[in-house]
Amino acid sequence: MNYETVPCVLCNTYNFKPLFSKPFENGEEFTLVRCRHCGLEFVNPRPHYNQMSKYYKDYFNQRTDRGYNNYFSETMHREVLRLLTLNLKDLQFYDFEASIQGEKFALDIGCAAGYFVDYLTRRGWHAEGIDIARDCIDHARNNLKLNAYCGDFLSFQFNKQYHCITLWATIEHLHHPDKFIEKIHSLLHDEGMLYLSTCRSSAFSARLLYGKNWRYYNFPHHLYFFSYRTLAKLLQLKGFAVTRFVTYGSGIGKPKTLMRKLADTLAKRLYSGDMMLIAARKEK
Ligand SMILES: [Zn+2]
Repeated sequence: MNYETVPCVLCNTYNFKPLFSKPFENGEEFTLVRCRHCGLEFVNPRPHYNQMSKYYKDYFNQRTDRGYNNYFSETMHREVLRLLTLNLKDLQFYDFEASIQGEKFALDIGCAAGYFVDYLTRRGWHAEGIDIARDCIDHARNNLKLNAYCGDFLSFQFNKQYHCITLWATIEHLHHPDKFIEKIHSLLHDEGMLYLSTCRSSAFSARLLYGKNWRYYNFPHHLYFFSYRTLAKLLQLKGFAVTRFVTYGSGIGKPKTLMRKLADTLAKRLYSGDMMLIAARKEK
């Protein structure tokens, strides 16, 4: 059996309502369900974790509507950095960074080719990254000379605590977002910050407009679709308090057109973006 049916990670119950099904590119159908208690949306049933590699073949280097077109190019590196620095500003990261005395340690989980690890290293951080994608980690280690590890975060042994842990567009891919947040809590300094971004499943965003064709409904690459409420709930259950919440992105109009720029600006002002950024610290 290649699939597993899982309970809601927030309620630990199996009481959910199927919303719709959508095929992967090989025709395999996946169903999105909504928990009847808390409203969390997730793909269920889903492939077992050890089956996932077949869905990620060529994810970072072949043009598909789901993956990336040559993620290792200079153009992509620049684009990733442009977005990251905007996100960091919105999250008030630079104020936090300035407040740390002495050496600073950071960990980027789901670091892909290591662009954020590289960025922090250049700013004087001791930065490390981890990802399960071998080709990405090879790029990070060999070309960018970074401290990047290929492996599963949950089974990896870390030997220090971090001031900053990040999950950029990663939590939606995970089989066990709850266990990740729990482990992050144990690795974070008491005064440290967790920053994350993920697609935002909210009625007041482009998701409503696009329905099952919403740009982030890539099953089974994306397994969890959090709203602000369900994500804040998960963080709170694991001992975190949210300190900042920002949304961005509209998905309306073609990239780089005036229409897209206007729609993105409006989405951000009205807190109706279909991506969200969260900053959280340990609950005192
Ligand atoms: Zn639930």
